[in-house]
Amino acid sequence: MSYEAAVEIVRRLAEAGHTAYLAGGCVRDRVLGLQPKDYDVATAAEPGVVLGMFRHARAVGEAFGVVLVPLRKAHIEVATFREEWGYSDGRRPDGVRFTDAARDAQRRDFTINGLFADPLDRPIPASDDAMTRELPGFGRVIDYVGGLADLDAKVLRAVGDPSERFGEDHLRMLRAVRFAARLNLAIDPTTQRAIRASARYLGEVSRERIGGEIGMMLARPTRAEAASLLTSLKLDGPALNEDRPAHLAHAPSRLAALPDDAPATLALAAWMLDRHAPEAGLAEAAAWDFRPALRRLRSALALSNADEQAVAASLAGLAALASWPDLPVHARKRALARPHADAALALAGTMTDTAAIGAAAADLRRQGVAPDPLVTGDDLIAMGHKPGPAFKRLLDAVYDAQLDGEVADREAALAHLRRLVGGAG
Ligand code: ATP
Ligand code: MG
Repeated sequence: MSYEAAVEIVRRLAEAGHTAYLAGGCVRDRVLGLQPKDYDVATAAEPGVVLGMFRHARAVGEAFGVVLVPLRKAHIEVATFREEWGYSDGRRPDGVRFTDAARDAQRRDFTINGLFADPLDRPIPASDDAMTRELPGFGRVIDYVGGLADLDAKVLRAVGDPSERFGEDHLRMLRAVRFAARLNLAIDPTTQRAIRASARYLGEVSRERIGGEIGMMLARPTRAEAASLLTSLKLDGPALNEDRPAHLAHAPSRLAALPDDAPATLALAAWMLDRHAPEAGLAEAAAWDFRPALRRLRSALALSNADEQAVAASLAGLAALASWPDLPVHARKRALARPHADAALALAGTMTDTAAIGAAAADLRRQGVAPDPLVTGDDLIAMGHKPGPAFKRLLDAVYDAQLDGEVADREAALAHLRRLVGGAG
């Protein structure tokens, strides 16, 4: 859907006489045989022209010349070819000028991200010295920066001088790690050296952008590779705004043991344990006071309240699992009914000797860990009791008996309640 929309935009721009290509990540992904998550268009047409050509189009990055075009239920980003200079703040260019495809490729971060593709069957411009490659069912890839050769060799390399490029925008160092881990690329040695040399400047980037990149890395099955790369390139300390623990020569083993589909917050909890409570088993991990480290992480990555709570609940949930053998059934069920209990279980699953807990938990889940209570406050009121502090204690006790399987139906639960009331009164 998004592909068809992007191709239609390219066609209409071309019919109006403007050079237009598919650009960036979508070309990279298609060359690798992967499914792109979206398709972007780059064109010589200036933003005003693009805005005038497509209904409901709107400028999103006016200074950068990006126009969002809604078409066929997709929203396609159409960017005017541009070159940039300055970057005196390590984040944004001081100046931008519209240009042609060859120069636009030069301002992109990595060679693998500097590719264009022409989905229309058009002759190659004679003046161009680009490499090209036909990709059946997609179009002709146009390469001004050596990205095709690097994709073939599985190498991630900065466009141009790596030190300059990381000096312009420090966030590119994290992008390098994200793409290398996700696409299983080796980072070119010169590019690696430039990252190590500039790593300490990462902290000048906004914490929101850092958090965004780390979140994307941790949401993927390749999260452990990303964490190892961050560490070996000395980016972990600046990214997490903490001194690097000495033991981190080790691979992040808990991160590596998570299920592929683990959410980023669970991965963050596992990574915290890898960094701060490394050799520990479940009992030691549960005993570690994670709160100071989590406060630090919250500001380092600009975590949302919801994300911070998810990390906290995953780590806090380890305590109940650590005392699992001593817990009665109702306490086990209550632990499993808590928010993020699955995350805590998955976290425990990365430690040794927790297989029995996982199996028992799955068994309890099949029975149901949070059934509707068989008796409620209404029953107590009907029995002539006034709401008060004893209410909740009585109802909790009956609910525990229900969770333990001691009372199987409402009659038994009411009888149990009467017994408790009699005993209490
Ligand atoms: P993803 O699949 O993660 O979206 P992507 O390559 O599409 O990967 P985007 O962040 O969407 O990445 O950026 C689109 C393109 O813009 C990139 O392929 C790259 O060419 C260029 N780009 C993005 N961010 C930067 C940056 N900080 N510096 C230089 N070029 C960048
Ligand atoms: Mg993209």
